[in-house]
Amino acid sequence: MARQRVVIIGGGLAGLAAAMQLAEDDVQVDLISMVPVKRSHSVCAQGGINCVNKFTRAQGDTEWNHFDDSVYGGEFLNNQPPVKEMCDWAPRIVDLSDRLGVPFNRSGEGNLAVRRFGGTLFKRTVYAGASTGQQLLYALDEQVRRWEVEGRIQKYEFWEFLGPILDDQGVCRGCVAQDMFSLEVRAFPGDALILATGGCGLVYGKSTMSMVCTGGANARAYKAGVSYANGEFVQVHPTAIPGADKLRLISEAARGESGRVWVPRNKGDHRPPNQIAEHERYYFLEERYPTYGNLVPRDIATREIFAICKEGYSVNPSTFAVYLDLTERATGIKAHVLRKKLGNILEIYEKFRGVDPLMEPMQIFPAVHYSMGGLWVDFEKHSQTGGLRLESPRNQQTNVPGLFAIGEADYQYHGANRLGANSLLSCVFAGLIMGPALRSFLGNLPGGSVDQVPGRLFEQETARHKQEFEGLLKKDGPENAYEIHRELGELMTRNVTVVRRNDELRQTLDELAKLRERFGRCGLSDHGTWTNQTLSFTRALGDMLLLARVITTGALLRDECRGAHYKPECAIPAPTAESSDELRKQARTWCEKYQRQNQEWLKTTLARYTPGSDDPQITYEPVDTTLIPPRPRTYGLKGAGIIDQVWKESFTTPAGQPASPGAAAS
Ligand SMILES: Cc1cc2nc3c(=O)[nH]c(=O)nc-3n(C[C@H](O)[C@H](O)[C@H](O)COP(=O)(O)OP(=O)(O)OC[C@H]3O[C@@H](n4cnc5c(N)ncnc54)[C@H](O)[C@@H]3O)c2cc1C
Repeated sequence: MARQRVVIIGGGLAGLAAAMQLAEDDVQVDLISMVPVKRSHSVCAQGGINCVNKFTRAQGDTEWNHFDDSVYGGEFLNNQPPVKEMCDWAPRIVDLSDRLGVPFNRSGEGNLAVRRFGGTLFKRTVYAGASTGQQLLYALDEQVRRWEVEGRIQKYEFWEFLGPILDDQGVCRGCVAQDMFSLEVRAFPGDALILATGGCGLVYGKSTMSMVCTGGANARAYKAGVSYANGEFVQVHPTAIPGADKLRLISEAARGESGRVWVPRNKGDHRPPNQIAEHERYYFLEERYPTYGNLVPRDIATREIFAICKEGYSVNPSTFAVYLDLTERATGIKAHVLRKKLGNILEIYEKFRGVDPLMEPMQIFPAVHYSMGGLWVDFEKHSQTGGLRLESPRNQQTNVPGLFAIGEADYQYHGANRLGANSLLSCVFAGLIMGPALRSFLGNLPGGSVDQVPGRLFEQETARHKQEFEGLLKKDGPENAYEIHRELGELMTRNVTVVRRNDELRQTLDELAKLRERFGRCGLSDHGTWTNQTLSFTRALGDMLLLARVITTGALLRDECRGAHYKPECAIPAPTAESSDELRKQARTWCEKYQRQNQEWLKTTLARYTPGSDDPQITYEPVDTTLIPPRPRTYGLKGAGIIDQVWKESFTTPAGQPASPGAAAS
């Protein structure tokens, strides 16, 4: 009997992990990627991957703590069973990577070296210098190449996914893709299709993501009927180097290795930073969040940096920036020690800024970095462990049968805010659990094997995409796709990032409609039929406009503050009273409001494509919070202890559940 065949789109960490796993399970894999798999965006990941380890266990850390940090970090918007399962797997995933040859840094005794990342008090992040993503990607690539030699995996690099193929029952039967050199369009039949196509940072023009992260593949699946979940949750990383072409990340690892964020205490003090004395420095994160300090989660650090610059404390007279200080004077750590642990990050700053960050503090500012939202995927909870029933074909399957999504392309693991170093973990984890999920799915295929599907379905879909591509190639209107993209990026960055206001979001939707209209009048500067990059970019621009609308509509409708989504008009003011009775009263009011907010908004946004329109149909579904009850997310903010106290006393049952029925969706 012929092997069953699965098509995987994307050769980043998620796609390679799935390919390796399926090949081991005797499945035939077609692996399609727009770029050589070793140039997938995962190669850029710097700081590390999270797992409970020997060192943290000795301090009382457990997989449950990792799970708790992840859902608290995501402000309880993440379905808990998949997150729990992921955290339980983390130590094994790191062991596996170690065995596959990832050169993790080690301590003098030979243990894995660890560093702290944001949103946890434990040093739970293992790393390979400052190129963890690259090392993990290359290790998985070696495994995939081994299976390629065996003929179990066939790689198609420089092929672009154009859309899934659905049969008349709505079951996914593979996809259509285009050779980016010859522009040949062809069908790839499959018993299942997995999208592992990464994030969509380019919707914001400039971001820390690679130039292929347009979200185009996700948008094409969305147009074919896959729901897009929590689109409005986009992570803005606190520390990046602003640049004319893109924004370059300075990893959280810099703060994990003791880097400190500060501004001069006096507004407008523009003396060189090394001339500013210690008592004249305002370490605002450390002062406001004494427990977590510089390693509060990203959404909080980003908002604080934004706010301090708006208050007039920017360290750069012509733009917004704060200092991130790795000098020995601030950290107490010798330069040669930091050079060994943070080499690549330091080089990036020196290369683009001409300054050695170990000699002078870096100037940094937040940048769009990660999409928590993505294709909606299902899961099945294990009734005993509370994690996943691994053999369930529902795991990672979208609402289109036979179409799965993994990695940054899905929405499953990070809720309203991703914790640093949890993404590499979620990518490898979701890739590996494709093994048992697909074993079950392929064992009971809806509608039978793809071999029984009439060939005309594939011919029709190929012809449809060919026609669309030929239409696009002929476009010769006056508008320029790159200019529209620049305007799109500026619009989204201005109105749909750190601080969101309903009037500006409405205005953004109007502007998006105008950009869409201009997009219809685009002309291609290249009409050639060989390696036509303008063609691919213009196609992706149409997709980005669609996703921008999903993101903005979701943000407009969600009238609350949660994780990365912050609307000042919905913020609940922190207690400020002097007298303890009054403070307690205010804290109670705060908790009541927070509880009401959860009743109304602790739910997943689902966007469905409306054929012929950019406007999504929005519905909501409950979040599974059955394992850890939601609680106020204060991160030890100075003065907010009273909120935690009142919540514990009056808003939870002795078992830790929310006190009033329905306080949290389950
Ligand atoms: C600068 C930076 C540093 C980071 N550092 C860390 C870190 O230290 N730790 C951590 O946990 N996370 C980190 N992240 C996040 C993490 O790197 C990503 O979330 C993760 O690598 C995504 O992996 P992926 O497999 O989902 O997708 P990617 O690695 O982005 O791969 C996507 C794949 O899909 C393919 N593809 C896309 N569209 C198409 C199409 N239309 N047709 C065909 N192929 C297509 C691409 O060619 C590629 O192979 C970082 C992110 C950035 C931006």
